[in-house]
Amino acid sequence: MKSFDFKATPIIDIVNEIITDNVRLRASDIHFDPTEKFLKIRSRIDGSLHDYSHVDNEYKRNLITRIKLMSGMNITENRLPQDGAIKTNINNVDLDLRVASIPTAYGEKIVIRILDYTMSAEGLETLGFSEENLAKVNKMISFPNGIVLVTGATGSGKSTTVYSMLQKLNKEDVNILTAEDPVEMNIDGINQIQVIPEIGLTFGAILRSILRHDPNIILIGEIRDTETAQIAVRASITGHLVLSTLHTNDALSTIERLLDMEVERYLLSTSLTGIISQTLAKKLCKTCRVKRKTNEYEKMLFKKALGKDVDEVYTAGKNCSDCTSGYKGRIALQEVLMLNDDIRYAINENIDRKELRKLVYEQGTKTMLQDALQKVLAGITSMEEVYRLIDTDDAIRNIYYIPKDTDEIVKHMQENDIKTVILTPGAAVNPTQTTQPKPTVQAQPQVKPTVQAPTQTQAGPNVGPTQVVQPKPTVQPQSQVKPTVQTTAQTQTQVKPIVQPTQAVEPKPQVQPVQQPNPTPVQTNIKQNKDLDDLI
Ligand SMILES: [Zn+2]
Repeated sequence: MKSFDFKATPIIDIVNEIITDNVRLRASDIHFDPTEKFLKIRSRIDGSLHDYSHVDNEYKRNLITRIKLMSGMNITENRLPQDGAIKTNINNVDLDLRVASIPTAYGEKIVIRILDYTMSAEGLETLGFSEENLAKVNKMISFPNGIVLVTGATGSGKSTTVYSMLQKLNKEDVNILTAEDPVEMNIDGINQIQVIPEIGLTFGAILRSILRHDPNIILIGEIRDTETAQIAVRASITGHLVLSTLHTNDALSTIERLLDMEVERYLLSTSLTGIISQTLAKKLCKTCRVKRKTNEYEKMLFKKALGKDVDEVYTAGKNCSDCTSGYKGRIALQEVLMLNDDIRYAINENIDRKELRKLVYEQGTKTMLQDALQKVLAGITSMEEVYRLIDTDDAIRNIYYIPKDTDEIVKHMQENDIKTVILTPGAAVNPTQTTQPKPTVQAQPQVKPTVQAPTQTQAGPNVGPTQVVQPKPTVQPQSQVKPTVQTTAQTQTQVKPIVQPTQAVEPKPQVQPVQQPNPTPVQTNIKQNKDLDDLI
């Protein structure tokens, strides 16, 4: 912990040193907490608070007064909360600080927020998007209209992502207007407007005016209410690109939240271009990270989410001089959904959440868990961070296994000890159809697992999303069923280019009891297999 010589050093220098020190430590906030015996100064670094210094109570008043003075607060008022700001340059570093005070039992508590936009100034490419996700984001913001939303909890790096997109779009030939609360970063060439609710300058009021100012691109700091949501939609369908943020965790809950805000389904389905959901994970310090073995649960996660066998991952090592608790800096974990016609149709037709979820994830959207595990594999973050940020049990249910072709299905079946594959032709045509999955294929464990879709001729090239279902291992119909030798790979080549299984259920219920594979397909399997025999 740092200590200061208050007798020998002017208070101005001490406050400056506290601020520059914390900027150097990459702190996002500095807390000055009054306690009975001393003033505790803490720094928030990479999301966690660390003790920075303790100041004797006799110097507390001087210190607090200096900060209040710098931030333009009323220094004679110490019974009411106040807000202030410091824009200054200390030791050639431009600083943009937000300051807030609040009276507590032991005196005034001050928090200084250090606004650091070096990240967004470095560009979208540096925010940790996977190649695939970055391509989607770039595509979303290349359209002249539509709504692109960045979602996540407070402190998930939403502003950084939004500002990075704005900077990319900030060209001379476009007019960009923003309504923000607060304007967190000033960008040259953009008309930024601060929301002031006290005088009636709300998001809604600003947005109504903005639309008369011939904008191309509009940033709405946050969609908080129905009025803002409806204006965003209206702006989008009248030919503007709208960027905004929402406090939701993933793509699905974002869609639901907007519908809760009484945005008309048909308008939402037309206007929404994409949703970027994100959270921030601490980055492992590359100097002191160490490898550890994965446990069974982690092996399952990697297998199911990424189709990979992972025996070792990096984890935080002991602290070194480069880092705080084995971590240094943060990286965003993302989930990027770009709406396609199927999803638009589903929103429009009020298709239930389960079906919508399937549509969202089976069509190639990588879940945040998949993105996170990729980053663990790359040694960027740790499993411990993934557990802290993501409900892995819940997240694994959103993962759909999408093999490229029949060979990959067979490989997947062998590797995962999957005995049965049910192909559902035509599901893409009407995703809500819940007819009996037919035809079915019984792959025998004794022989090479095989896949067959006897009706592929009827279905033609439109054989759509199909299901790979794993029966509950305890119910083993295979042993009772005579090996159906006729279900060999005779049709594999025909099926190859068109089969697209979309759901693989983990074959280890004991590892993950929350996801009990539905035994129904198993029970009907025998019957279905007879149907299959009939068909053949
Ligand atoms: Zn380290």
